[in-house]
Amino acid sequence: MQFKPEKYRIEDKAHKAFIDGDEIWDTLNSAEISKERVRAIIKKSLNKNRLNMAEVAVLVKADSPELISEIKQAARDLKERVYGNRIVLFAPLYVGNLCMNNCKYCGFKASNTETVRKTLTKSELISDVKALEDNGQKRLILVYGEHKIYSPEFIAETVKTVYSVKSKNGEIRRVNINAAPMDAEGFKIVKDAGIGTYQIFQETYHKETYAEYHESGRKRDYDNRLTSLDTAQDVGLDDVGIGVLLGLYDWRFEMLALVRHTNHLEACYNVGPHTISFPRLQNAEECKCDPKYKVSDEDFARFVAILRLAVPYTGLILTAREPQKLRKEILQYGCSQVDAGTKIELGNYSDDEKHEQDLRKEQFQINDTRSLAEVIDELIEDEYLPSFCTACYRLGRTGEHFMEFSVPGFIKEKCTPNAIMTLAEYLIDYREIKNAEKGWQLINKSIDKMENAKVKELLKDRVARIKGGERDLYF
Ligand code: SAM
Ligand code: SF4
Repeated sequence: MQFKPEKYRIEDKAHKAFIDGDEIWDTLNSAEISKERVRAIIKKSLNKNRLNMAEVAVLVKADSPELISEIKQAARDLKERVYGNRIVLFAPLYVGNLCMNNCKYCGFKASNTETVRKTLTKSELISDVKALEDNGQKRLILVYGEHKIYSPEFIAETVKTVYSVKSKNGEIRRVNINAAPMDAEGFKIVKDAGIGTYQIFQETYHKETYAEYHESGRKRDYDNRLTSLDTAQDVGLDDVGIGVLLGLYDWRFEMLALVRHTNHLEACYNVGPHTISFPRLQNAEECKCDPKYKVSDEDFARFVAILRLAVPYTGLILTAREPQKLRKEILQYGCSQVDAGTKIELGNYSDDEKHEQDLRKEQFQINDTRSLAEVIDELIEDEYLPSFCTACYRLGRTGEHFMEFSVPGFIKEKCTPNAIMTLAEYLIDYREIKNAEKGWQLINKSIDKMENAKVKELLKDRVARIKGGERDLYF
């Protein structure tokens, strides 16, 4: 990997806190904007170079309508050129909402006695996974509160249970987790259970704000959370996801801090984060949050477009916290993964009754409540290729986004064929979508467009095998 020799590469030490709030504000305040400078930075990104903090600060401060529109257009171009039209789909599965922390923004906080507390039993977990498989899901993220009963052993057990559930042709092929930081031994236990990505959000990188929002509990320790991914890396858990909860502090600061976190992981471990998440704060039971830093839809779109340009080889995740219309718009700026068919009330995937959203049982409110089939219908309508691909993870190809970016032909010869095959499986096994015919047209069109004759023939053969009943074929 060819990273530029920046200051952080020499100075960063593993397990040492690396965020300097003054440095971030100085970088933002000293950024000088000119059209030429903004265009030169865009060009650097389009040439597949990660941007440094000073360059990202320039994009953040470029707030004229003309430059914002150029940044958005560049993000669209980068996405199309680098990632093509694939969108990876997943669903979150809440395993338990017991929690010892008191994050002011979260419905699961310990002090919220109105919340209905629940941890799925093994049979409830199995029923939920079956229901998800019967809908066509192949990739899950398991989510846990922070509580002593959610030990690494407990988490590992739930991960193994999920992998063991099969329903007709359905199976879960990749399980990611979002759970509280662990010690090295704990990370090793969950890694050995076969997790894909370990995801944890700093929420806000601004230390004073962090202290304000995290009143008590283990999560109050900012540095411990900040360096937890170093501990994960130490035991070889190198597939990690970072994130911020937008709305707690100034999004401009958080943007630079995410780049700084990326720098740190590259400096110490030679690998950046696999994914970045940027949920916006949603209404939650007993949510006591200052609306001062609320991120508008326009700024949210800018945030995603700038982040796309800042870290061209990192996966960007857009969740169902956002409404359908905005998700459709934001997708173009370079998000690579979306959740679909999301239910965040515990046990609801297998519960047939229609539930009104009930904040007493949820962590927060979601705004896109469409089914997986409805999301796939829209993606196909918009000519995106829905993908359930899990090939890299299962073939031990870590750093897949970096490969997509740097290995010539990787997307055309691996990612696109894999997306096509997983879509073909979906169209055959789960028939409730309206756009099935259009889906097949999209598959055929995508195959026709393939340049590598050998891969094209192999792919045609494999799609025929899938039609004949074979499953789980990948390059
Ligand atoms: N307990 C683990 C932790 O705190 O790391 C799991 C996290 S929680 C179940 C997943 C994420 O949801 C949090 O990291 C936070 O960013 C986000 N979240 C919490 N409250 C939220 C709210 N009101 N609106 C939007 N996202 C929220
Ligand atoms: Fe607990 Fe996580 Fe919610 Fe904080 S964000 S209260 S740690 S579940």
